Amino acid sequence: MVLHRPGEPLNLEERPTPKPAAGEVLVKVAACGVCRTDLHIVDGELTQTRLPIIPGHEVVGYVASVGSAVQGITPGERVGIPWLGWTCGRCAYCRAGQENLCETARFTGYQIDGGYAEFAVADARYCFPVQGSYSDAEAAPLLCAGLIGYRALRMAGDGARLGIYGFGAAAHIVAQIARHQGRRLFAFTRAGDTAAQAFARDLGAVWAGASEEAPPEQLDAAIIFAPVGALVPAALKAVRPGGTVVCGGIHMSAIPSFPYELLWRERKLVSVANLTRRDGEELLALAPRIPIKTEIETFPLSAANEALARLRAGKLRGAAVLVMGEKG
Ligand SMILES: [Zn+2]
Ligand SMILES: [Zn+2]
Repeated sequence: MVLHRPGEPLNLEERPTPKPAAGEVLVKVAACGVCRTDLHIVDGELTQTRLPIIPGHEVVGYVASVGSAVQGITPGERVGIPWLGWTCGRCAYCRAGQENLCETARFTGYQIDGGYAEFAVADARYCFPVQGSYSDAEAAPLLCAGLIGYRALRMAGDGARLGIYGFGAAAHIVAQIARHQGRRLFAFTRAGDTAAQAFARDLGAVWAGASEEAPPEQLDAAIIFAPVGALVPAALKAVRPGGTVVCGGIHMSAIPSFPYELLWRERKLVSVANLTRRDGEELLALAPRIPIKTEIETFPLSAANEALARLRAGKLRGAAVLVMGEKG
């Protein structure tokens, strides 16, 4: 497994295989996606990290054993372990169907050891069955990039003209759902990132350009996946009156001040936090029907630091996935 301690790169260490408690499953990890949130955790930009921590919350693996109280999951089954690892079930948010906002929620790879490891334990109630013909590595990005993207797209409303700022793992999945829904897609990338712009066009974007550019027509909504606060006023400028800008990340650099007129005329600015289990069930059912194809670049577990460095540099097409058992 790979362990994160503050101020150090991720270190490969051996640890005994964890044991599942009564309500938990032990999962032999097959693949684990590398999410931008992992980068924020390793870089110390998120402050609630339990340290040391095994990162990774896009876990696909096979149930090795189950605790005595687990029902409905059996050894051998393929499951996914997402970011949402535990909620209280009692607070006002949990009772209102907003468990993503639970005040005492715990998250995989953040407060609960995650999937940069050969084995992981998880609360059985938060695991999803992973069906369909996806390989383990192909399925991994659905677990966060897919889920958060799906939730962000829903919050963007039904408008036909959708902008996406930052064309990485989440965007490449959202693009496919949006196209399936008949929307027109406008992709914004770092200036000069012709590779990402070509990737967006391959996925059906009608326009791709730099984030500073104005799109050729006004947008109904925009989703910002890049963790760059300056994109907020840029996106507000690009959407029509009454349109929505959704911030899809867990962390963003400070948003610069901007004139009120960018927000006025009933534009909405919202963020997306975490996921609910319902999001997971819906997206995992939808993915094989479209079908969503995930574009992945695989790395052995021992190359976790390299995968994170590639993500930081924006040098990935699609999503990075750690594949266990692959030689380094
Ligand atoms: Zn994530
Ligand atoms: Zn709660």
